[in-house]
Amino acid sequence: MNTQTSEKLYAEALENIVGGVNSPSRAYAAVGGGAPVFMKKGKGAYFWDEDGNRYIDYLAAYGPIITGFAHPHITEAIKKQAERGVLYGTPTRLETELAVMLKKGIPSLDEVRFTNSGTEAVMSTVRVARAFTGRKIILKFAGSYHGHFDLVLVAAGSGPSTLGSPDSAGVTESTAQEVLTVPFNNVDTLQHAFEKWGSQIAAVLVEPIVGNFGMVRPQPGFLEAVNEIAHQAGALVIYDEVITNFRFMYGGAQNYLGVTPDLTAMGKIIGGGLPIGAYGGKRDIMDQVAPNGPAYQAGTMAGNPLSMASGIACLEVLQTPGIYEEMDRLGKKLEEGMLAVNEEKYHLPVVINRIGGAMTLYFSNHPITNYEEAKDTDSELFGRFFKLMLERGVNLAPSKYEAWFLTTEHTEKDIDDTLAAADDAFAKLAKG
Ligand code: PMP
Repeated sequence: MNTQTSEKLYAEALENIVGGVNSPSRAYAAVGGGAPVFMKKGKGAYFWDEDGNRYIDYLAAYGPIITGFAHPHITEAIKKQAERGVLYGTPTRLETELAVMLKKGIPSLDEVRFTNSGTEAVMSTVRVARAFTGRKIILKFAGSYHGHFDLVLVAAGSGPSTLGSPDSAGVTESTAQEVLTVPFNNVDTLQHAFEKWGSQIAAVLVEPIVGNFGMVRPQPGFLEAVNEIAHQAGALVIYDEVITNFRFMYGGAQNYLGVTPDLTAMGKIIGGGLPIGAYGGKRDIMDQVAPNGPAYQAGTMAGNPLSMASGIACLEVLQTPGIYEEMDRLGKKLEEGMLAVNEEKYHLPVVINRIGGAMTLYFSNHPITNYEEAKDTDSELFGRFFKLMLERGVNLAPSKYEAWFLTTEHTEKDIDDTLAAADDAFAKLAKG
C-alpha cells in the first residue's frame, strides 16, 4: 500500500503542529510508531486517504460517526443551517429541539445544558455536584477517561484509602488531593474508600459501560452498589456517557442497563460529528447552574446552530426501526467470526469484549473486567495487528485500549472483508 503522501503530510505537520496531531491518540505511539494515515474523504463506512487508498473504518472518529461519513440527512441539515448563519449568540429553537430529544431518549434528564466537548460536559457535572453537595472530593475509576481537565488527569493513589497523584505535568498536587481512584467492578474497595472519605465525597464519576480501557461491562449489581453506597453517604452519582449515549439503543447506557444516575455527561454521537457536549440531570441539581443558581458555566459556541442541526439529524436517523439490532447482529458476526477463525487455525490469545456494535479485541489469556487486566494484555501483538489490518484496508483505533465502532452503514460484505483481513493478520502474527 502506497502511503507516501501521508508520510509527507505528517513530516510537514510535525514541523507545525505539536506532535503532528491535535489529539495525542491520533499519533501511532501506542502501535509502534510511524506516520498516521491522513484522510481526505469519507462516505458511509469507508474513508479514503491522501494516496487514494480505501479503508473500512471502525474508528468512527473515536465514536461520534455512528451513521457513517457524510450521511445525506445530516449533511443536508448542516448545509441548510450553514446557509442561514452558523452562530448568533442568541437562543434558537434548535437547542430546545435537541434538548427534548435527549430527554425523550434518557428519562433521567429533567434539564440539560449544551457544551462544546465531552470534557466540558464532564467538568461541568463535577462543578455542579460540588455546588450541590458543598463537598470537594470526586471518586473515579482507574483507567476511565473523562476528558482533559485537571481533575480527571489524576492517577490512583496507592490504594482506596489514599488520594491521587498527578498523571500529567501541569496538574497540581492540590488538585490531585481532591480525587480518589478505585478499581472498576470492585465493590469492596469502593466501600472502603467511602468508609474513609464518605463525608467529603461530592460525587462518584463513572462510565456506566467503560469505553476507555476497551469496552467493559459493569458486573451485575456493580452500578446498583455505586448508587447505594454514594447515596447513603450523601454523594451524587455522575454517569459519563460521552461514549455510550445513543450507542447501544436510542437512549443511554443507563436505559440499556436499567440504572439511574443523578447527573449525566454526554457528547460524541449527539452532535452527529460536529463539536458537542451536554450535561443534565435532576432539576433541583441542575438548577445550581447559572443563571438559575450559583454554579457558573458558559460558552460562546455552546449550543451552536450547526452542532444542534447536525445532532438533531443524527438522532432522527437513529430512530429508524431496527438500526441498533442490525449493528448488534453485525457486531456479533464480526466477534464470532474472528474468535472462530482464531480457534480453528491460530490459537492466539484473543479475547473480545462486545456490547452491540462496539467491541474491543485484546490479545490476552484472561478476561478483561478492569483496567489492571486491560493493561496486562499484549500491546506489541496489538500494534502489529493494527498495522496488518491497516495494510489490508481496515482502520481500527491505534490503541489496544480503544473500541471498534460499527456504524449504521457497515454491511454484511464489510464484515466478511474485515474477517478475511483478520484471518490474514492472525496468520502473520501466529508465524511470529
Ligand atoms: N468522557 C469519555 C468517556 C470519553 O471517552 C471522552 C473522549 N473520548 C471524553 C469524556 C472527552 O470528550 P471530548 O474529547 O469531546 O472532550
